[in-house]
Amino acid sequence: MPHTDDSGNSGRDDFERERSGSEGSGSEGSGREGSGREGSGRDDSGREDFEREDFERPMRLALAQAGLAAARGEVPVGAVVLGPGGEVLAEAGNDREATADPTAHAEILALRAAAARRGEWRLSGCTLVVTLEPCTMCAGAAVQARVARVVYGAADAKAGAVGSLWDVVRDRRLNHRPEVLHGVLAAECAEALRDFFAARRPRRS
Ligand SMILES: [Zn+2]
Repeated sequence: MPHTDDSGNSGRDDFERERSGSEGSGSEGSGREGSGREGSGRDDSGREDFEREDFERPMRLALAQAGLAAARGEVPVGAVVLGPGGEVLAEAGNDREATADPTAHAEILALRAAAARRGEWRLSGCTLVVTLEPCTMCAGAAVQARVARVVYGAADAKAGAVGSLWDVVRDRRLNHRPEVLHGVLAAECAEALRDFFAARRPRRS
């Protein structure tokens, strides 16, 4: 099993994030299983032991990280890692520009910080909460970290790897498959991206 997913990029760039952010708003989740988000807390076995409301508070923390990222000129994506008891282990925002690091997505930074804090690479029982559907790299990292679940806000129709373009974390060929919950504060998460790119878009008159 490959330990990295950095065999190039997934075609995602800022523009694609922008477009997905735009598409993800309003009727966000378009192209997904309709409004079937109610069933999204279940994994393959139909298990559902967490509720959407449980993750609104951490998602607001992730949104705050996205806001900080935007203020730094980064694409506004934020992530939080929760410990098994729901405690916040780490928070991070996208930091690619400042670090000149193509892997410095919010999820990667948050997973690294959480693992460092716990002193082990396995994040068993932990939850990754992120404002935007993870890309292939970050979805792969979530699997590698053995997180128990992935919770995200806005879908990414252009590069999402947790249900949109691919479903890396729930591939039945994998031994470890995190649970997935999506659509948590999706409108706000998409709005952060939309606002960011709208502010940067050159105006024509
Ligand atoms: Zn990513």
